Amino acid sequence: MKNTFLITMCDLSLEALKAYPPNETRILMIESQRKWQALPFHRKKMVLGISAMRHFALELQRAGYEVDYRHEPDFASGIEAHHHQYQPGQILAFQPREWGMLQILQRLSENLPLTQIPNPFYFLPREEFIRWADSQQNLRMENFYRWMRRRENILIQNGKPAGGQWNFDKQNRRPPPNRAYPDPPLVEPDAITRKVIQIVQAQEGFWGSADDFRLPVTRAEAWTWMEHFFRWRFADFGPYEDAMRRGDWLVTHSMLSAFLNLGLLHPREVVERAIQSAEEYAVPLNSLEGFVRQVLGWREYIHGMYWYKMPEYRTVNYFELERNLPDWYWQPDKCELACLRDSIEMVKQHGFAHHIHRLMVLSNFATLAGVNPLRLSEWFWAGFVDAYEWVELPNVLGMATYADGGLLASKPYISSGSYIHKMSDYCSDCRFDVHQKLGENACPFNYLYWYFLDRQREKLSQNPRMTVIYRLLERKSAEEKAAIRRESEHFLARLPQGNSDYHFQYDAG
Ligand code: FAD
Repeated sequence: MKNTFLITMCDLSLEALKAYPPNETRILMIESQRKWQALPFHRKKMVLGISAMRHFALELQRAGYEVDYRHEPDFASGIEAHHHQYQPGQILAFQPREWGMLQILQRLSENLPLTQIPNPFYFLPREEFIRWADSQQNLRMENFYRWMRRRENILIQNGKPAGGQWNFDKQNRRPPPNRAYPDPPLVEPDAITRKVIQIVQAQEGFWGSADDFRLPVTRAEAWTWMEHFFRWRFADFGPYEDAMRRGDWLVTHSMLSAFLNLGLLHPREVVERAIQSAEEYAVPLNSLEGFVRQVLGWREYIHGMYWYKMPEYRTVNYFELERNLPDWYWQPDKCELACLRDSIEMVKQHGFAHHIHRLMVLSNFATLAGVNPLRLSEWFWAGFVDAYEWVELPNVLGMATYADGGLLASKPYISSGSYIHKMSDYCSDCRFDVHQKLGENACPFNYLYWYFLDRQREKLSQNPRMTVIYRLLERKSAEEKAAIRRESEHFLARLPQGNSDYHFQYDAG
């Protein structure tokens, strides 16, 4: 009797199935309608996920597996129907990436022979992260990252960090580069992808368009995408990792997150190839270390923290912010702030914007405007091709909005317009003036920043990393503070109301 292996959208790796050969194992894959109806997802995200699954099903068949590929109202009914039809000895599944799926599997395992296999898609099994976290006084990423570098012996020489430093951030804060980089290797959709595009385009209730979908959907294509990054952008990754350029969705970033998160690439092979490529293409250490820090450090840390803090993580709201997400986040053409409009347009067009747009524009604005962080998190989950709850939730609620009260970040990532001015080319073409602090034409980030600090004084002023900034606030005259309050409230009162009609089904499966 064969066992069944349940392969979800994030498990698309033949390598991961090595211990489960075709003569012993049948594969179950499910496209769940309910999962897709949980939010107004981006059409490119839908096409990427569905097409990658369908391509992987073919790869599995070519490797000799029998694949039961089902279209079902939800995962649970798909698994039950499969069990009824095939009566497998066991149903195996990798530990799910997301809390909702874990609930579904746990419920089903009361009546079905379901077994979870340790998830092989990370460097660190989640149980080991939890052991690490339990042994720490301080859960900061930096401590975890150093521990991981030593544990994995990556960029370590004679027991010390390569180059004598754990990070090279000081060299990595340059404003946008003047040079252009070659386009990534976009993929002409094949018949499978074209069919999925047609289906998704015809559906109501999703966001953006998939007509121009050109992303990799197989491991081979994702590998080519990765190699292109190493060849053309990697050397400049470090210095320009915080830089934003109008209309440039990648600058020097890799966009490998989408393929890593589907399982098409493994983080270990990405880091190994990064180290080899650094030699091949003479990539400086500040770029190599900066990239390794993202994959070995941040990605693993975020994954671990999600499992360490779920399900409570979904409920945090340290600043008690309650505004709906302004309509601008769905309809950017109406937004007057050039940086915010362009960042949202980028997401609407590509289902992607790089880290600094996410952190210092999209989330910074939402926090300063008092948006409920969970509504922002839902938008990220819906809109980004690389978004899954395990990775967007800690990033949004922890790193970007400080909604967890400082579990992940030592201070909120908020700023006035000057940061955006320094790190981008947006301000030169904006209807607002970044140099004006107050008045009709002043950049809204400028007054909203001080207004936020003023209102959150009780929760932030004792933070040692905020002392200097609160001292500056105290030095402002009563008149200036009153003007900041007046202009902020005027701006916020005119902010387009968000749609509170949709309700995300968190554990939709
Ligand atoms: P690069 O800059 O080229 O970095 C290489 C890789 O490192 C990425 O592919 C990614 O896998 C990993 N990485 C880097 N930073 C992080 C991080 N903070 N968390 C996890 N992995 C990281 N990442 C997602 O994969 N999915 C999300 O839904 C997501 N939502 C985010 C929301 C917010 C508000 C913020 C601030 C960050 C979010 N991130 C998310 C993290 C990060 O922004 C993206 O991983 C990165 O922008 C992806 O682009 P890239 O592949 O070009 O990354």
